Parts: sequence; C-alpha cells; structure tokens
Amino acid sequence: MTHDPYTPPETRTFECLDCGRRTDAQHQPVTCSVCGGDLRDISVPSEQ
Ligand SMILES: [Zn+2]
Repeated sequence: MTHDPYTPPETRTFECLDCGRRTDAQHQPVTCSVCGGDLRDISVPSEQ
C-alpha cells in the first residue's frame, strides 16, 4: 500500500441521485454502477 508521491491521488466522490451509492473515482463516472442513475460530484461544495 504505497502511494507514488509524485502523483497525489485526486479522488473525487460521486453520489448516485437515485440510490445514494457513493463511488470514488478520479474522474466522473458515466452512471451509477448499481442502478445506472445519474451521479453527482459531492466532493466539491458547489451550490446550484
Ligand atoms: Zn444508483
């Protein structure tokens, strides 16, 4: 379990709007892997 110090992980967290499942990814997944719903980036506190 070693991380490359030159490539810090910039993992974002996405939450499914339908089932609420959270998925960590380095880029936005297309859809929820569980229900196929739309994902929302919850790692960035953006208001509308
Ligand atoms: Zn889902």
